[in-house]
Amino acid sequence: MPRVVLATHNPHKIEEFQAIVAAVRPDLEVVGYDGPEPIEDGVTFAANALIKARAAAAHTGLPALADDSGVAVDVLGGSPGVFSAYWAGHKKDAAANLELLLDQLSDVADPHRTAQFVSVIALVRPDGDEQTVEGRWPGRLAMTPAGPGGFGYDPIFVPDDQPAGADRTVGEWTAAEKNAHSHRARAFVQLAPLLASL
Ligand code: IMP
Repeated sequence: MPRVVLATHNPHKIEEFQAIVAAVRPDLEVVGYDGPEPIEDGVTFAANALIKARAAAAHTGLPALADDSGVAVDVLGGSPGVFSAYWAGHKKDAAANLELLLDQLSDVADPHRTAQFVSVIALVRPDGDEQTVEGRWPGRLAMTPAGPGGFGYDPIFVPDDQPAGADRTVGEWTAAEKNAHSHRARAFVQLAPLLASL
């Protein structure tokens, strides 16, 4: 069975990836990565995704996938962007990140609260071949969090595409709904043909 290593320690992302990979390439085994973590000192999603995938490919000798992602708020010029995971400080506190972002936007009215979830996935092969794909998921930020599902900024992100019609945050979506629409799913559509050659 062909294998690919997924360079992330985020259990939510591993679950999402496994579901998405299984839908596209059920014969491809996705294995976790437990090697050394590189310093993510890139200033773009692509740079950080490549840093993570290169480290995993070098350590395992397998083709490696890594995703770098975040939320880009238009009125903030694309921030938090690559700083999404630690917007409120280096503790990587998801609740504090979300609270700070809502506080910063408290005076911004609904039409100006547009944002996108962005995911860049890097595929690095042991021979050094490198590719990246990007998925963007447009929406806007709610005034208050809603919903128990997902992770990170999901409870305040209201995607433009709404499967059930009514405006809901991703925190209120099912995992299956999110996996069919998300920025990672959109990036994955472009990744699928690249995976075919593994
Ligand atoms: P990374 O793990 O370094 O790529 O950081 C990604 C950060 O962006 C996460 O910690 C979240 O704060 C945010 N993020 C990325 N994808 C999602 C998502 O699907 N839902 C909610 N937040 C996300």
